[in-house]
Amino acid sequence: MLAAAPQTAAALAGATPAGAPLARAATASLAVQQDEPGVLCAGDASVALDPLSGQGIYEALRSAAVAVAAAHSYCSAGEWDPPARFMRERTCELWRRRTQSAALFYEQQARQTPSDFWLRSVGAYAACELAGEPAVTGEARIERRPVLDGPLIALRRVVVTAQSPRGLWRVDGVDLAELVDFLRAAHTTDVKRIAQRFSSSPAAAAHAVQWLRVHGLLGSTGSTAPETTVV
Ligand SMILES: Cc1cc2nc3c(=O)[nH]c(=O)nc-3n(C[C@H](O)[C@H](O)[C@H](O)COP(=O)(O)OP(=O)(O)OC[C@H]3O[C@@H](n4cnc5c(N)ncnc54)[C@H](O)[C@@H]3O)c2cc1C
Repeated sequence: MLAAAPQTAAALAGATPAGAPLARAATASLAVQQDEPGVLCAGDASVALDPLSGQGIYEALRSAAVAVAAAHSYCSAGEWDPPARFMRERTCELWRRRTQSAALFYEQQARQTPSDFWLRSVGAYAACELAGEPAVTGEARIERRPVLDGPLIALRRVVVTAQSPRGLWRVDGVDLAELVDFLRAAHTTDVKRIAQRFSSSPAAAAHAVQWLRVHGLLGSTGSTAPETTVV
């Protein structure tokens, strides 16, 4: 391999092996977040994706930003529960989504080349436990959950749906739960008034209203559906 890459060979000219070559498995792995306040895992130490995903560095960098926000929140507010819950749920969701798509890719490949390696890999991913919270079912509802708010993780009212089991706080910068409150009180879906109230563009206001409508929180007449659960 070094002969095929002369520049690398030159850079490693003085290098000597530190030991015998060692083969290691490179598969997806999940580490459950620790319960100890102030202790958290980020990057591969938390969720290592399958190397074939090509997303490992991207996810490691994303989780680093979340870890920084968790540390800020703990140091400034002294509360560990919201950041810990946010990290735990985010980690579980990432694991669930990524292992499901890895299983699909391995399955496709195993159909083309049903060798031992691919078939065993399909079996391994199919057996991956769907870690984390049980799937969200039922109607969209408003709950208090931890969200990433700039540099901090804090509890906010969010809309929880099957597609967004950790909850969605804002659409185009418009706070969804506050929008439900506003629509319920003002009995209007006039985008100009909504945009004024939320200091947003009319397009953003229209988008947020449309989001509520699609997710069943807004009746066809524009009235808001009753809030089913508030935690
Ligand atoms: C074979 C393979 C191919 C891959 N291909 C891709 C790809 O094409 N694209 C992609 O995006 N990702 C790929 N990845 C995944 C990617 O490399 C990782 O997701 C990413 O490097 C994770 O970054 P990290 O900072 O969390 O961990 P790491 O990059 O593993 O960094 C952790 C560092 O901590 C050090 N360390 C460990 N323990 C200690 C200790 N006790 N004290 C001090 N230091 C310590 C380690 O030496 C290491 O330098 C691949 C991974 C593998 C295994």
